[in-house]
Amino acid sequence: MDFVPVNEPLLDGNEKKYLCECIDTGWISSEGPFVKEFERRMSQTVQRRYGISVTNGTAALELAVRALEIGEGDEVIMPAFTIISCASAVTRVGAVPALVDSDINTWNMKIDEIERRITSKTKAIMVVHIYGLPVEMEPVIQLAKKYDLKIIEDAAQMHGQTYNGKPCGSFGDISVFSFYPNKHVTTGEGGMVVTDNEELAERCRSLRNLCFRNDIRYVHDELSGNYRFTNLQAAVGLAQLERLDEFVKRKRKMGKYYTEALKGVDGLKLPMEKTEYADNIYWVYGIVLEPYISVTNREMCKKLAEAGIGSRTFFWCMHEQPVYAKKGYFQGENYVNAERLARKGFYIPSGLALTEKQMERVVIQIKRIMNELCHSAKADRV
Ligand SMILES: *Cc1c(COP(=O)(O)O)cnc(C)c1O
Repeated sequence: MDFVPVNEPLLDGNEKKYLCECIDTGWISSEGPFVKEFERRMSQTVQRRYGISVTNGTAALELAVRALEIGEGDEVIMPAFTIISCASAVTRVGAVPALVDSDINTWNMKIDEIERRITSKTKAIMVVHIYGLPVEMEPVIQLAKKYDLKIIEDAAQMHGQTYNGKPCGSFGDISVFSFYPNKHVTTGEGGMVVTDNEELAERCRSLRNLCFRNDIRYVHDELSGNYRFTNLQAAVGLAQLERLDEFVKRKRKMGKYYTEALKGVDGLKLPMEKTEYADNIYWVYGIVLEPYISVTNREMCKKLAEAGIGSRTFFWCMHEQPVYAKKGYFQGENYVNAERLARKGFYIPSGLALTEKQMERVVIQIKRIMNELCHSAKADRV
């Protein structure tokens, strides 16, 4: 039987039509008309004044950090449990991530532990909405006000998600999105910075394009890279964005299906269906193995692969990254919940092209594997 991939995007809307338009008109570079249109629609969707498209979500984070003039010796608070892009955007400019443990239920950073990480060097809080539920923003906004800190919001996984009815991506001084194929609006590769601040928007535009000076071309006061987004990417993005509501419904339906089917399976902790401020959007359907299950997420993913099911382990914590240990960061730091998620969490096929038949197969295999694992867990305890 065919392998069930962990992610397959859905590209059967206007993607082909708009791409043909690019080719027919010859507009394929970053100068094409779809780029501005995509920036306009995307920023409108998340209620922001400015959208600056870039090559990918990682670049968007780097631009956000640089636009806010975070640099040598500054500190940025962020979750220990996240993707490396968050930490690397900060360490690349010589600033230091101050890590916060995760809430074991929402998997997002523990809000009540942020304040004790604030020092005289803290410049910003990087909020990352992880896997499906948004971070509780209100207390974060209050803290940022109280201590005069910036908020960088990583909404890479949150297209169409809201916090108390307001779109994710509307909360940061700068917020960022990714359009990688596993995000539910994709452009192949791609990202965007959104903001309401005109000066920050202008800085991001400059950083995106080699910091060309506006008055005299080829004269530079500052260095950057080329992070430009192409008309071809924007063509796909526009077609995707047209279907955002449908995609969000589809994600939620998939999440409900898995939860119904896997409820009551011993050894699994399923994702929270909702909080006071949001319904889970199930960017991916994540599962955490209970502590009494002796296998790790890596072993679990291997078993699933042998059964023809694609899956991925959760993120690996920032304070356990070999690259940062080598550089002397995070010495002796521990974050128990984040570490548990990194060792016991995994996600199962959740792409938009996933069929109900495929989901049935995923469920059958998980139940079979968990049945075996629970029997051996019981045998161990006897
Ligand atoms: C995907 C992702 C990124 C990075 O985006 P790329 O486009 O892959 O560079 C950053 N943050 C989070 C939370 C992500 O999920």
